[in-house]
Amino acid sequence: MAALPLTYYGDDLLRTIAEPVKKVSNDIRKLIALMFETCAAEKGIGLAAPQVGVNKQIIVLDLSCYDIEPFCLINPVIKRRFGAIETASEGCLSLPGLFMEVARHQSVVVAGRDSKGRFNLLEASDLLARAIQHEVDHLTGRLFIDLVEDKIQLANELAHLESKLAEIRLTQAKELQQGGVITATNPTVAGVL
Ligand SMILES: [Zn+2]
Repeated sequence: MAALPLTYYGDDLLRTIAEPVKKVSNDIRKLIALMFETCAAEKGIGLAAPQVGVNKQIIVLDLSCYDIEPFCLINPVIKRRFGAIETASEGCLSLPGLFMEVARHQSVVVAGRDSKGRFNLLEASDLLARAIQHEVDHLTGRLFIDLVEDKIQLANELAHLESKLAEIRLTQAKELQQGGVITATNPTVAGVL
């Protein structure tokens, strides 16, 4: 299976509210499998469907490097956020190379369906809770940079990102011409989402 091309900062889809999944069909399961492939290929720990150009409420989390079984959530809803507000560095596959401090709740309870359509309720803390909050935000058109408090540093970082994205778009265009597989390298700190 091939990884899917990513959508990057500046793409309208990343600012769009994703549609709920009405039926967990085989096509949805195929998409989820490809999202896991893409997440692994990009060395991410999470991915939301709009990041691969699909306007649907699906997220995958892969923290297998932290001994957490990978899982997906369809139509996820955060039911509760609790615990301390913690600040940590965050990154996103759609904003390659940009890492900034973001404050989030330490723990969440999230509801959603799995790839078999079964309803799940999950309590998560720390990095997993952060990753879930980051991915669920993607489904409402919100990016982690919206939560960054240091707007001056953010403006500088976004200027760097723009030049990096221009390079990536050029590489994508060349690879498409050559019919090759699109790949992008992303540095990983605690994990990109
Ligand atoms: Zn992200």
